[in-house]
Amino acid sequence: MFDNLSDGLQSAFKSLRGKGKLTEGNMREGLEIVQRSLLEADVSYPVVQEFMKHVSERALGKKVLLSLRPEEELVRIVHSELVSILGPVDPAIHLKKDGPTIIMLCGLQGSGKTTTCGKLSQLLKEQNIKPTLVAADLQRPAAIEQLHVIGRQLDVPVYSEPGNQDPVQVCRNGVAKAIEEDARVVILDTAGRLAIDEALMAELGRIDSKVHPDQVYLVVDGMTGQDAVNSADAFNKALELDGVIMTKLDGDARGGALLSVKHVTGVPIKFIGTGEHLDALEPFRPEGMAGRILQ
Ligand code: GDP
Repeated sequence: MFDNLSDGLQSAFKSLRGKGKLTEGNMREGLEIVQRSLLEADVSYPVVQEFMKHVSERALGKKVLLSLRPEEELVRIVHSELVSILGPVDPAIHLKKDGPTIIMLCGLQGSGKTTTCGKLSQLLKEQNIKPTLVAADLQRPAAIEQLHVIGRQLDVPVYSEPGNQDPVQVCRNGVAKAIEEDARVVILDTAGRLAIDEALMAELGRIDSKVHPDQVYLVVDGMTGQDAVNSADAFNKALELDGVIMTKLDGDARGGALLSVKHVTGVPIKFIGTGEHLDALEPFRPEGMAGRILQ
């Protein structure tokens, strides 16, 4: 479990160990090391503070201080607290019994929505579930064609209405077509913006209230750290989210933003994106993520 701790964290813990029996003072040093590591991993400050409160309560207990290897005990406590707040796990796409299940993807422009539409379609196809994609991102000029390219690649139908500027109509018509074609899942690729604005939220709110998606997933870019957290907060206030998909975790990002995003939205992290290819989508595993954040 501790193999992937960074050299810094390893040697810091070793120096604690060198002091023989741990005192409360040493343990506080250890807790500070953990706190620094979380901040470096991009976990936002208020979340770190709350998290450290829980960890300190457990770590400063007599049982831990008197244990044979208190520093390992500390890492174990941090790991298990991370796993517990990153969970519960729910990577399943819950399907309705009758009619197609409508999944709406939302997020800022460039977060990876269109790519993730393809990734989810691929996953569904592997489970013998028939998806249809609806091109409702009418803001980014290339988004409709990008979705068609993905659809052709996967042999999945893509519904679009070139020229129609009303995303609610496009989504409604797309859902009607999907029902005709007997699709089990309809995925709506909605518009993003470079930053949160009222027009975007109003548009998504309209789709939500008129098309009634069964699941609303927020797609956030894991490379954007604190920005991911701020946008997640705004989307969560405007829409009733059912899950989060964090993309671009194939990069260097330690993924601490995930902890903050989970904290502000309170909804399950469903999947993580680990590359540009359409098979680069993994069910979210808190254990793996906790190890990565704790590097
Ligand atoms: P949208 O504007 O939200 O629809 O974003 P796109 O789906 O067009 O993605 C923006 C860019 O991010 C594209 O170049 C994608 O290939 C890339 N991308 C999406 N998901 C991932 C991922 O998990 N990892 C990496 N490395 N790139 C990704």
